Amino acid sequence: MVRTSKKARKTRVNKDFYTELKKSVTCTAIDTLSKTLSIETYVEQDSIEKSEIMIDAIFVELNKTKKFIIEFSSILGIELANLKLLCYYAKCDKCTASADKYVILSCKRCNSSSNVDSYFSDVKSKLQYSDVWINFLIRIGRLCKLYPKFKYVTLPLNQIQKQISKLPMLVENDIEFWRT
Ligand SMILES: [Zn+2]
Repeated sequence: MVRTSKKARKTRVNKDFYTELKKSVTCTAIDTLSKTLSIETYVEQDSIEKSEIMIDAIFVELNKTKKFIIEFSSILGIELANLKLLCYYAKCDKCTASADKYVILSCKRCNSSSNVDSYFSDVKSKLQYSDVWINFLIRIGRLCKLYPKFKYVTLPLNQIQKQISKLPMLVENDIEFWRT
């Protein structure tokens, strides 16, 4: 009797998902006229007030569109990450020295010392997103910024969310595809 080990099955699931993800990329001509936001030109806001206004605006655009779901969700993620960073009034030594804002965002010490969670609960209740979903948006925002082709992925967001922890690694191992 041949039995597939749990690990082998998991690897297969990852591989199948990744194949589907790549197949879903559709680099069709982009209808820029109907597009209000673009990942390439998006600039993060420089104050908490402006960031909150922008998050509302992106959220409205996101709910209007059926076409640019990944791209608009990524831009929302980028601005949510930015807002979170703007909320830090104290940074630990490690984060002060780090240039990677995604490292800072996941620092437990800074999160608790700046009381970011309680601040963020306002945004969360307004958007009605869970922590998990906000973190997911932040992560695809990062992927989209680093690997521009990612915005052409057309798999449903919830399907991508289930695999998000492995996704950066899978994409990084396949840079040729995602950067060209
Ligand atoms: Zn820190």
